[in-house]
Amino acid sequence: MSAMHRVWIGVIAAIGVTLTLQPAQPSRFDVLIRHARVMDGSGNPWLRADVGVSGDRIAAVGRLDAATAARIIDARDQLVTPGFVDVHSHAADGIVHPPLRQAQPLLAQGVTTFVANPDGGGPVDLAAQRATLEKGGIGPNVALLIGHGSVRRAVMGDANREPTTQELDRMIELVRRGMRDGAFGLSSGLFYVPGSYSKTDEVIALAKAAGEAGGLYTSHIRDEGNYNIGVVAAADEVIGIAEQAHVIGIVSHMKALGPESWGLSSRMIANIDSARGRGVQVFADQYPYDASSTSLRAALLPLGAGPDEAIVRDNLKRRGGPDSILIAFFKPDRSLEGKTLSEIARARGTSPERTALDLIAQGSASIVSFNMSAADIDAIMTQPYTMASSDGGLVEPGAGRPHPRDYGAFARRLAVYVRQRHVVGLEFAVRSMTSLPAAVFGIPDRGALRPGAFADLVVFDPDRIEDRATYTEPQQLAAGVSYVLVNGVVVLDDGKFTSALPGRVLRR
Ligand SMILES: [Zn+2]
Repeated sequence: MSAMHRVWIGVIAAIGVTLTLQPAQPSRFDVLIRHARVMDGSGNPWLRADVGVSGDRIAAVGRLDAATAARIIDARDQLVTPGFVDVHSHAADGIVHPPLRQAQPLLAQGVTTFVANPDGGGPVDLAAQRATLEKGGIGPNVALLIGHGSVRRAVMGDANREPTTQELDRMIELVRRGMRDGAFGLSSGLFYVPGSYSKTDEVIALAKAAGEAGGLYTSHIRDEGNYNIGVVAAADEVIGIAEQAHVIGIVSHMKALGPESWGLSSRMIANIDSARGRGVQVFADQYPYDASSTSLRAALLPLGAGPDEAIVRDNLKRRGGPDSILIAFFKPDRSLEGKTLSEIARARGTSPERTALDLIAQGSASIVSFNMSAADIDAIMTQPYTMASSDGGLVEPGAGRPHPRDYGAFARRLAVYVRQRHVVGLEFAVRSMTSLPAAVFGIPDRGALRPGAFADLVVFDPDRIEDRATYTEPQQLAAGVSYVLVNGVVVLDDGKFTSALPGRVLRR
């Protein structure tokens, strides 16, 4: 066959595709991304294609040589994937402050949707929260949860007892209202007051109410180490709630906290596998760091314990000792931020236990706590049901030393766990950030790169994407992402932020 013949066959084939397969396809798009390696989020490997965007949706994916567009982006052979979904985020607290509305630390890593109100927290009135978020505008999309702890507190304060029948009915009604207001499910924080005061049956009743409205159940479990029932039993509680309430259950930011619990991920994974084997819908999410973050009080005096040096000593040991605890925020004395508890104790000439109690008495201190093993992190990450998350917040630059996950969790998964250490493959990692969370949370038409889906898109170089945020210099944007679109609007343009706020408060 001559070269001319081949050209003609190619032209005829191209016309045929245009006329027969995609007759309604516009030849002019609002945005056209050319020369891309498209990874659709399903777990499939990339393939070369162009992506046409019309309005807020993806209009076409394929060879779009003849198409024109108001805006053409040359992907320069980089990957184009669906925007990343962060299923456990504290960013809703910060994003309402005008300088943080764009959520640049999230967009810089390709996060286009985050799930708010985790750990049983957030407001009870989700309609009001939605209105506040919509009024000021936001960079990424937000999906809301209704928090068990907040609902419990609204009905019975911080009472350390079971609810009466009437109280439980009022809590169920608040969960139902949250679901009617567009929540994607119920979150709980059973380690924290007042969630810690609840028995499993109460949570099952509320998870059922969420489930009846199509929602799921996601939990900061009762114990991530060996504080009370132990991490294995605490993960089993999620399994039991999912099973009895007939809902999807998520072990959130799954980990085995503290040297005495290291290695227990294998038992948690075995129990989740066996639950899935008998038909229980259990999932997990995870952020890729060996340090967690919480308040000094929750870490060392959990469950409302009084100021007792012996309790502090036990819990310090549990968390790997005073060297393993770094002060992140401490309003009464900003100079302590970035120092370890042992450094502060040495400087003051007091014991670490005494020092911790003094800080707790002075005000609320948040900490970064190094307490996870690499083997557990790797084992959890390789499970097919594990979604990506950050557990991060949004704080103004210069405000303390937050956990670097705020700025780096998604980039770090791709840089460290895919590229450097080969713990998971690139397709697997992208799937854990896109189609998996969208499917589990029931977020319609997101987490996928196909015609008809919302145009939440990320263009990045998989050889260059990198978290820059460290424990000592945490507020550094991730690198390697060139373009981000949210609802068809360019928010990151060749590495520079636009001023657009196209994010939406999603509805289930
Ligand atoms: Zn949590």
